[in-house]
Amino acid sequence: MNKIIAIDGPSGSGKGTIAKIIASKLGYTYIDTGAMYRCVSLKSIIDNVDITEEEKLIDILKNIDIKLTNDGKCFMDNIDVTDDIRRMDVTKKVSKISCIVPLREVMKEKQRDIAKNTNVVMEGRDITTVIFPNADYKFYIDASVEERVNRRYKQNKEKGIESDIEEIRQSIIDRDYDDMNREIGKLQRTDDQIYIDTSNLTIDEVVSKILEVIK
Ligand code: C5P
Repeated sequence: MNKIIAIDGPSGSGKGTIAKIIASKLGYTYIDTGAMYRCVSLKSIIDNVDITEEEKLIDILKNIDIKLTNDGKCFMDNIDVTDDIRRMDVTKKVSKISCIVPLREVMKEKQRDIAKNTNVVMEGRDITTVIFPNADYKFYIDASVEERVNRRYKQNKEKGIESDIEEIRQSIIDRDYDDMNREIGKLQRTDDQIYIDTSNLTIDEVVSKILEVIK
């Protein structure tokens, strides 16, 4: 049987970076499910599909080809959209798109399908609860709002992007609210997840903790 390591957590908790390293150390496939939702958001912007047009949004998901690579790149219909899916307009729309229940159902099938024949480290918001409630290992990676704001601000600075710290804080608070309060697939802590607060830990320390559990 192939192995599944499921990781959930809020945006900016570092779960993506950590999942990528774990996957590479174990030789597993890394799946960033947020990128899959972001592709739907990007395509809807390109095609001018409004958030109220649920059927069209679902059709987008059914018809686009999404390829994720282990080094974190994302291809939509064979075009590299790794940077585009991080745009502010894509980010703003994606939390709304991810509240559409029938779209999440289609996403569930796609994500389960990916892990059919391969070992995966899959990260997102509902991987430990909805997509793979019986995963071999389930982690919840967290960090305080302040720490996540600082990390995002620093990341932007390193990329040469000017950003307003208040705007980042508000966007993180808004996204947490949307992610934790939607009807289905909400981000939540459960008793069977291993909880790691990364606020005062380095990436290496978090990776070691996870590898210790898996060993
Ligand atoms: O992880 P990332 O911040 O890139 O995810 C983008 C958005 O996609 C999240 O804010 C959330 O609304 C949605 N998402 C989701 N379920 C997942 C992964 C992401 O609803 N499993």
